[in-house]
Amino acid sequence: TAPSKIDYESLAFEALQDVPRKLLIGGKWTDAADRRSIAVFDPRTEAHLIHVAAAGEADVDAAVAAARRAFDEGPWPRMSAKASAGGTERGRVLYRLADLIEQHADELAALETLDVGMPITFSQGLEVPQTVDIFRYYAGWADKIHGKTIPVDGPYWAYTLREPLGVIGQIVPWNFPLIMAAWKLAPALACGNTCVLKVAEQTPLVSLRLGQLALEAGLPPGAVNILPGIGEVAGAALVRHPGIDKVVFTGSTEVGRLVAEAAGRNLKPCTLELGGKSPLIVEADADLGLAVSTAQDAVFFHQGQICCAGSRVFVHEGVYDEFVARSAQAAQHRPVGNPFEAEVLQGPQVDRAQFDKAMRYIDLGRTEGARLAAGGRRGFFVEPTVFTGVRDDMAIAREEIFGPVQSIMSYKSLDEVIRRANATPYGLAAGVFSSNLDTVNTLARALKAGTVWVNCFTVMDSAVPFGGYKDSGMGREKGEDALQHYTQVKAVVQPLKGAAW
Ligand code: NAD
Repeated sequence: TAPSKIDYESLAFEALQDVPRKLLIGGKWTDAADRRSIAVFDPRTEAHLIHVAAAGEADVDAAVAAARRAFDEGPWPRMSAKASAGGTERGRVLYRLADLIEQHADELAALETLDVGMPITFSQGLEVPQTVDIFRYYAGWADKIHGKTIPVDGPYWAYTLREPLGVIGQIVPWNFPLIMAAWKLAPALACGNTCVLKVAEQTPLVSLRLGQLALEAGLPPGAVNILPGIGEVAGAALVRHPGIDKVVFTGSTEVGRLVAEAAGRNLKPCTLELGGKSPLIVEADADLGLAVSTAQDAVFFHQGQICCAGSRVFVHEGVYDEFVARSAQAAQHRPVGNPFEAEVLQGPQVDRAQFDKAMRYIDLGRTEGARLAAGGRRGFFVEPTVFTGVRDDMAIAREEIFGPVQSIMSYKSLDEVIRRANATPYGLAAGVFSSNLDTVNTLARALKAGTVWVNCFTVMDSAVPFGGYKDSGMGREKGEDALQHYTQVKAVVQPLKGAAW
């Protein structure tokens, strides 16, 4: 159904009534042991919506114990991986969860928009469908995860088993609560692990509803535990917990370092998806209309609160002036407003802290001498903001803003732009706009980033690995690559008697 046909705003408030306000531990909804809760706000108005339980250390202990029981004694890792047989096999349960998410798509999209402020056109048109897809994608993998046979010297043969790791502690940020949870849960579960998912304190709604659907789909008690909670409390308790076998974290580079340190002390592997300051390069031979509009989507999508935002735009000097003029004009016409309205492309920042952060950088950009070509005015919603004449050493060109702020810089040669684009501690993504195949191939190989998008940006697919070079993270999520991060290899060697070898 087209977004305009449904009153998503009313649907969101209806759905809010059904959201569990507790922690999901061992298949049961429970209050926090110390009865603490967190307030959830409407980012459009800062109006208080509901309270949900906030996990403390005791709740993390209980959730890890439940996940451990579900792994050591429960059916989940022992279930047949095959989805084609009848019953409760792992792949089949994940397909069922995907079906349930699809059946509740409008409600989940509405909740996501209410909680995060994401325009309904994206929550309904992109985030929920991609969530359905990733559960289906990994449901399909469940029966295709296997080892190898290995020829060895002497009368022996060897084979490998790809086994689940055990209990996975997972932490997600507030910017895409549903898809972030799905990127973590789907591959971990497909491999036979059990999960404790710590969701962001700002945006717990959709994950709690997802927990309900997971139980309905037939995930055994304890296979998925969901804990809203404060990062320094519940998140920190989870990552230092000796009872987990792996940590998977998405969030800022700053907190990622703390997470890696805690995991390292317990010798637990960790996958980190961290921040970015992604370059987007526009060559003189690019389709300029496409480059201008894609570059805007790359940094204004979801109010700029996207890890791979194309926030540093390098434009060849031959087309710089035209690119700037068209970008400024397009930014002024970008529809900002109530994210429940179908034509709106930009809603409010998620909370006051993010709003203040974006405004601080806009002020900084001005004082450091960048030219404001569009936006920058104050209001609760940050205007799509375009800075031109930006130098590489300015804060707006170096630091992750996580707001709708585009910095446009000019360059002369390919060698120069490769050096400048790579001169950042981050390496999450990059974009290239050119009609010359040789240029595209050169840049795709030279840019130090986990993803390079060519003549497009932010095109995501469940089958394509995602992750960062350098300080943008380690390990990969999505695609076949994620399976390696949720399994370990066991080698089995045994005698081969009586057979010709
Ligand atoms: P954040 O690092 O502040 O928080 C992320 C999560 O970590 C939250 O659940 C938070 O509660 C928890 N946390 C906070 N302190 C913790 C601690 N000491 N120990 C354990 N957990 C703790 O980040 P954020 O502001 O929620 O999200 C924005 C950041 O996330 C940006 O830097 C963005 O680039 C990054 N991000 C990266 C990706 C990616 O795939 N690379 C995707 C989305 C967001």
